[in-house]
Amino acid sequence: MRGQMMDVQLTLDVIARRAEQLFPNVAVVGRRPDRSIHRTTYGEMMRRARHLAAGLESLGLSRGDRVATLAWNSVQHAEAYFAVPCGGFVCHTLNLRLHPDELAWIATNAGDRAIIVDDVLLPLLQQFRDRTPIEHVIVINTSGGALPPGAMDFEDVIARGSARPYEFPALAESAAAAMCYTSGTTGKPKGVVYSHRSQVLHCFGECMSSALGMREGDCALAIVPLFHANAWGFPYACAMLGLRQVLPGPHLDAASLLELITGERVTIVAGVPTVMNGILAGLEANPGTYDLSAWQMATVGGSAVPQHMIKAFRERHQVDVVQGWGMTETSPLASISRLPHGFVATGPDDEDAYRARQGRPVPFMEIRARNEETGLIAWDGVAMGELEVRGPWVVGEYYHADDGAERFTPDGWFRTGDIVSIHADGSIQIRDRSKDVIKTGGEWVSSVALENAIMGHPAVAEAAVIGVPEPKWMERPIAVVVCKPGKTVTHEEIVEHLRPHFAKWWMPDATEFIDAIPKSGAGKFLKNVLRERFAARLMT
Ligand code: ADP
Repeated sequence: MRGQMMDVQLTLDVIARRAEQLFPNVAVVGRRPDRSIHRTTYGEMMRRARHLAAGLESLGLSRGDRVATLAWNSVQHAEAYFAVPCGGFVCHTLNLRLHPDELAWIATNAGDRAIIVDDVLLPLLQQFRDRTPIEHVIVINTSGGALPPGAMDFEDVIARGSARPYEFPALAESAAAAMCYTSGTTGKPKGVVYSHRSQVLHCFGECMSSALGMREGDCALAIVPLFHANAWGFPYACAMLGLRQVLPGPHLDAASLLELITGERVTIVAGVPTVMNGILAGLEANPGTYDLSAWQMATVGGSAVPQHMIKAFRERHQVDVVQGWGMTETSPLASISRLPHGFVATGPDDEDAYRARQGRPVPFMEIRARNEETGLIAWDGVAMGELEVRGPWVVGEYYHADDGAERFTPDGWFRTGDIVSIHADGSIQIRDRSKDVIKTGGEWVSSVALENAIMGHPAVAEAAVIGVPEPKWMERPIAVVVCKPGKTVTHEEIVEHLRPHFAKWWMPDATEFIDAIPKSGAGKFLKNVLRERFAARLMT
């Protein structure tokens, strides 16, 4: 017997209509490159998104055509997040921190026909456009400057689209809505194509009270770029629930962000640990300067969130840090770290230690982990294995890729490349990425655990722990440390700091001090660069 409920498709235009009808006066606020503030509302934004979709259609673009974006977090970029997929096109966000050669390769692999680009990023586009199939260049022209030959003004495309009546087309929920390429840390970028259905379900999963628990009346500052991992679904989640939304533009320094947090009375901030670390440092350097009375929660992910950061925000600033784990391939939110019901702390730092885990899977996300020796690992918090996930917003195959099939198991799970333990309550604890794993004398050392602990040292700004070749044990850990301005620390002091918490053989054999840890476009440590640089460190 068939179920007899309406077969309403899970498509993003339903979210756009809802925001327009229910939250027409709720504010969306952006900061332009010239630092001026751009204020609009969901009513205006969704009306413009419809016109933009009509304008794109009038350029001759057809269903399924890829429209790239190369832009900072702005009102216009958020408009494109709705206009492009709801118009039946595919919104392909390009990561503006990548090298022009990589961007050329990605835009060509994706087959982008049009691009929406910030005026301030035109010099970057110029460096790769010739090597791509891009036909139409649409410029978010906030400076009002002259456009390159053949380019169109974003406002003119909207004006073109407003010339005729237009409603978003009825689309199948399986249709592609957006695409994003995995970024450099794991080799050649691979395209992940999100469907309307996967975006809508991800949005529901994310909004649950046991996940991010956002609600009308909140104000979200998405520092996480719209060009990376689907901006954690924030534009859709905020519009669906009617949150005020703040988009920081290119100004990601701590002072600018704190000014927005206080000025707009932000309640929820979403960002990666490196940016949150900057905000924390900004707060500590200027005690009493910022009114944080509205700010309640920070959702942080993209790399491991150090326990000391969770503690510092909670104790000193009354901000609840909620860690999320995910990947471009998982839309991205897959697990979220909230204290489970009935959690009993037995020590003062227990709560923070629990929150420093990557948390339990969001509903409909299933997890398991395996290693070569034992197969699927026990959920005992000790055994380690590669995490595998399955769910309606997990990639099923890569786009136009000749490699990557090995990332899927024969029974249809996605192999994440993250080495984890799973605790009895189902919470995940990331020990390493498989390519960063340190194996010394046949035993695994968790670089993530060591670097988190080192970053808790008062003199340390950033730390990475890497495995380097060593004659006796094959590989041994060394620490690479960036000191806070005006502070110093020795290798011996680092080891003293770690000794109470880790086995003796986990202790780094050496500490290297450098000015900055090389980072990927998404702000993650590029440990492969460090491994190369310090490959000979223990071989003499
Ligand atoms: P890339 O794979 O190119 O770095 P992604 O943004 O898709 O780009 O990165 C996903 C990876 O980031 C995960 O596989 C994991 O290793 C890491 N990651 C994401 N969130 C967390 C977290 N909360 N804790 C630890 N690692 C994380």
